[in-house]
Amino acid sequence: MKPYNLPDDSGHFGQYGGSFVAETLVHALDELKQAYSKYRSAPDFQREFAYELAHFVGRPSPIYHARRWSEKLGGAQIWFKREDLNHTGAHKINNCIGQILLARRMGKPRIIAETGAGQHGVATATVAARYGLECVVYMGSEDVRRQAQNVYRMKLLGAQVVSVDSGSCTLKDALNEAMRDWVTNVENTFYIIGTVAGPHPYPAMVRDFQSVIGTESIEQMQEHVGRQPDYVLASVGGGSNAMGIFYPYISDNSVKLVGVEAAGDGIETGRHAASLNAGQVGVLHGNRTYVIQDENGQVMETHSISAGLDYPGVGPEHAWLKDSGRAQYVTVTDDEALQAFHDCCRTEGIMPALESSHAIAHAVRLAPTLSKDQVILVSLSGRGDKDMHTVAQYSGITL
Ligand SMILES: *Cc1c(COP(=O)(O)O)cnc(C)c1O
Repeated sequence: MKPYNLPDDSGHFGQYGGSFVAETLVHALDELKQAYSKYRSAPDFQREFAYELAHFVGRPSPIYHARRWSEKLGGAQIWFKREDLNHTGAHKINNCIGQILLARRMGKPRIIAETGAGQHGVATATVAARYGLECVVYMGSEDVRRQAQNVYRMKLLGAQVVSVDSGSCTLKDALNEAMRDWVTNVENTFYIIGTVAGPHPYPAMVRDFQSVIGTESIEQMQEHVGRQPDYVLASVGGGSNAMGIFYPYISDNSVKLVGVEAAGDGIETGRHAASLNAGQVGVLHGNRTYVIQDENGQVMETHSISAGLDYPGVGPEHAWLKDSGRAQYVTVTDDEALQAFHDCCRTEGIMPALESSHAIAHAVRLAPTLSKDQVILVSLSGRGDKDMHTVAQYSGITL
């Protein structure tokens, strides 16, 4: 078997990835690339990263046998990797810790980030507070309005939230503004990207920081189940929780990898966020990947009940894994994800994030088609407390 060693030096996964940025950022990205390759294997960086993951985040997160639900479905055994139990309630914090440790070693006192639903903004504000660094978060004004609770959370954590009033006033506009800030303040500023997207080296770097999810899973599956799963499932927005759990499994061809995209109201309605299933190859966020765009290459508005999956692109490594056939990508609608959310609450006593509910919904589809001695491992990327208002609203309840 060929060893898997992507991306190449210029950040390419086949035709995907790379670095499409303004001239002024080329130097900043080189500097980041050098710092990352210097520190990633340095014992003192590794030690501090592991310490923070253990003592601040609360790792390792357990794996959990959804026994009652598996019995009910009458097929494969479903296991959850419990990223919902992390500090701040999702996997995003793993990557934020890694990047802020790098920022400190590079001597950058100022952190910027962009956020859609606010979850990456909160994770970034959290680590900035933890280390006493200045933090500015860009957010579309429409999102600021829709996600008032997360905006307040960021402020409580000491971050400055800049409301972006251009274009559609959502994530892609916040993204442009964050890039503009970085160009202007590149000397003292570190840009923390929240998923496996952006220009090289971000996709590989974020994947590496998140791969703690899969590395722990391999150990825990061996210990508690005595074998590795037949399937590993994860929701895909930008794709960081999926890459985190997939990556350590890529070289093990007996493990099938399945990413689950948001079909929203249904792919055929055009109101979805399924870049790999319904997008075209284009350039977004500094890399080549699948993008949801119109015939003129204009990025289109996406829709999902889950704010964290509502992203018009996808990490370039997923584009590669899809084309190469190593991973498969399926879709789940808003209604199916909601059903899985409710069933998970009642059957297992776990309230999953709506993002994670997409992966769970596919597990529920898949399990009855498999035998009882087969195993499905699902990345339960976050907890659902943040989604209460959305769920209530869909059920016609006003809180
Ligand atoms: C942000 C988020 C996602 C989607 O982001 P990825 O980069 O695709 O992992 C999934 N689940 C939760 C809980 C999130 O907060």
